[in-house]
This record gives sequence, structure tokens and C-alpha cells, in this order.
Amino acid sequence: MRAAIIGMLALGALTGHAGAVSAPHPQAETQALELAKQAIALRSVQGPGNQTPEVAALYKSALVAGGFAAQDIVITPMGDTAYLVARWPGSDPTLKPLVISGHMDVVEAKPADWKRDPFKPVVENGYLFGRGATDMKLDGTIAIAALIELKREGYEPRRSIIIEFSGDEETTMATSAAIADTLPPADLVLNIDGGGGVLNEQTGAPEYFTWQGAEKTYADFARTVTNPGGHSSAPRKDNAIDQLAAALLRIHDHPFKPELSPLTRAYFEQAAKYEAPDIGAAMRAFAADPTDQQAIAVLSANPATVGKIGTTCVVTLISGGHALNALPQRATANVNCRIFPGHKPAEIMAELQAVAAAPAVTFKDMTEGSVPNDASPMRPDFVAAVTKAMAIAYPGVPVFPSMASGASDSMWFRYHHVPSYGASPVFIKDSDDFSHGLNERTPIASVPPAITYYLSLIPELSK
Ligand SMILES: [Zn+2]
Repeated sequence: MRAAIIGMLALGALTGHAGAVSAPHPQAETQALELAKQAIALRSVQGPGNQTPEVAALYKSALVAGGFAAQDIVITPMGDTAYLVARWPGSDPTLKPLVISGHMDVVEAKPADWKRDPFKPVVENGYLFGRGATDMKLDGTIAIAALIELKREGYEPRRSIIIEFSGDEETTMATSAAIADTLPPADLVLNIDGGGGVLNEQTGAPEYFTWQGAEKTYADFARTVTNPGGHSSAPRKDNAIDQLAAALLRIHDHPFKPELSPLTRAYFEQAAKYEAPDIGAAMRAFAADPTDQQAIAVLSANPATVGKIGTTCVVTLISGGHALNALPQRATANVNCRIFPGHKPAEIMAELQAVAAAPAVTFKDMTEGSVPNDASPMRPDFVAAVTKAMAIAYPGVPVFPSMASGASDSMWFRYHHVPSYGASPVFIKDSDDFSHGLNERTPIASVPPAITYYLSLIPELSK
């Protein structure tokens, strides 16, 4: 390892995070940061004044200036937003394309609540600040700058490369679904809005990197009790609110069966050493035996791990009754589920129905903007390519898979049985991760090694 680092140093400069190695690509590094600032200044938030189409135009002009053919870049308007698909044709049209997937929209940000205007990007103390700095304008522009750098260096892919950006990933995901429905079937998708590296909280040194190969399926189930109601001075046994409440409590107490997949086993085995001793020990024990009751108790009690060991369902909304002095005619609750890969929502709804054990309670799947999706396979060619790219950019930093508890654009591809892998090369401290939150920021030391990573990963998957 030492010999490799010294060899690399001879070629370039040690930049970025301590422990990261990158040959200098000054044009690409500068372009990634400058383009990110321009993109952050555009308020690509759903609703009136949505500037996502302007972000698409910005990315298109950068790609065209970088050597992409204008006719190979299509911006498709959709409602108040738009999506972008850019193609870099490969020399062998019989090969399925490599797709690089991101999004251009951001979550709403109220300037009054922020220390600085979220739509006026600033670089300070080594951080890029602004809405989208983490999720995911800098990620997008790093990938764009890396593709342009590959063109500059004369790279010619055998497999076509498609880079696409959805325009409503944070809200309705209609553009995400449209992209996955209309693109030709990909060999695999690199989702640059998932996965990523963790920096040590104390030292800031790169600690480990995970690529994301699975995510939970999102589902909303409405459960409703109705009855004839009546006068509140003449109560009956069958009160709709009471019946619903009793059913909800039974569901609250219901543990879904703990589950382990090859992917989460690999995650627990390798992530254990970065956790507090009790959590780490429980992770190792659960990876060895997913019926270990003590390990299950520890991991279930921890909000950061409960979602990784099985399906979870919680009540999130409730309404009922119609007057202060009337017996309720209706009570409804929404139960939000995050389903472990491999199960259909209907299966989980049936389980909930059985647990509720109340015939008066009806269930309905209300899920919008989500589709069920299974884990992507741990494909050896992808695992080798991402491990190699990380070894060049961050020598010695462990690389292992992870499963996300939230939803991303990967689900639309996995739904079509296209493998999709979250593989963002940006490293950040957990305590600095303010995606969707206030004062969002990302360390710009991530940029040079991220370019280095893509210059290995993209050719590896398209050569
Ligand atoms: Zn995102």
C-alpha cells in the first residue's frame, strides 16, 4: 500500500482529505465547484418559480462546451419541472448503456431560517454552503466535470454512457419514473445520489465508504373504522375511535420478523467496528445469527439500526370524529411502512390486517410515488470496479455495501429489474450531513479525489 501511495504522489499531489490521493485535474476540479455554485443559485424547488429547467439548461451548456453533441442531450419539460438525458455514444451499439443517475431539484429552504441565503452559494472554512450542496448539486456537477475530463483526455467508451438528471426526485418523482420507463435497459445504473463516504468525527480523516445496493420499499396504508355513530349521551361499545386505537396499539406491539440479506450481513460485519461497542457487538452477533434475541433487542431499540433489520411500520397521521357531542362515524389512520427488500406491500398489509385482529378496521394501500423494489445483486464486476476506484482515490479506506432506509431514484430502475448502485464519492461527517435541513454544506476537499474516482470507475464500467 505504501509503495502505491508513493507512486501516486510522484504523479500528482496529495490534495483533499488527509488520506485521499488524487492526481491533479485542475480544470475538472474548478469546473465541478463553479458549476455547483451556479446550480445552487438556481432555486430548483417544486412550485411557482421552479428553476429546475434552468439547471437543466446550465448542465446542457456545460456538456456541449465539453464536447457532447447538442443533439445527444434532450431536456424534457414536465409540469413546472424538466428532466435531462445526455448520451455519449459508445463504439459498440450492441452493449447495454451505463447509466449515471442524479437529480436537479432540491428541497424547499426558507432563507429566514438559514444563517445565509440558501440560494447564494458560499465557500467558507473548506465547505460549500447552500441548498443542494449535499443533496445533490455538487455530486451532479462532479460527475459532469469528470465526464468532460474523460472527453478531454480522449477516452472513447465501448459501452454508451447516459447521464440523466430527474427534476422532482424530492417530491412526486414523476420525472424519475418517466426516465426509467423510457431509457433503453441499462447494464447498470450508478446512482450518484446514494452511497458515499464517512469522515471521522474527531479527526476528519476518511473512515469508510459504502455503496448502496438496496433500499426499503415505501408504503402508506390507510386503516379506517366506520359505524353509524349517534348521540354522545348514549354511548355504545363499538366506538370507531376506540376500535381504531386498539388496533393501532396491537400493531405498535407487533415485531416484524428480523431479516438478514447477503448485503446487510456484509454491512453489519464491516460497519460494526465504527459503532459504539454495544451496537457493534449486536451487529456482529446479528450478522452471525439473525435469530439472536439479545442482538435483536439492541438493534431494535436504536433508531439508526432498527430499519436495517427488517420491515418497520409506524402510524403517522390520524383523524376521526365529526362533532364534540357525537359518537364518531369514522376514524382513519395512516400507517407508513418501510418494507425490507423482497416483500410485496400486499404481503405486509395482510400481516397488519391479521395483527389488527379487528374486522371493523378496513385497510387500503394509499402509496403514491413509490414502487416495490428488491435488492440489486452484488455484481462482481461492479463491486470490483467501485473497490478499485476507491482504492485509487482513498487508498486503504474500507469499501462495503449498505442498504438505505429512505427512497431514491434507484427504485424506479430496480422495479424494472435493472441493477442500480448508489455510489457517490463524496465524503462527509455524519454531523455535517444537513441534506433537506438547515445550513446544508459539503467539504470541498471531496472534489479532487471524487474526480479521480470517476476517472477510474466510469471507464471501468464502459470500456
Ligand atoms: Zn437527493
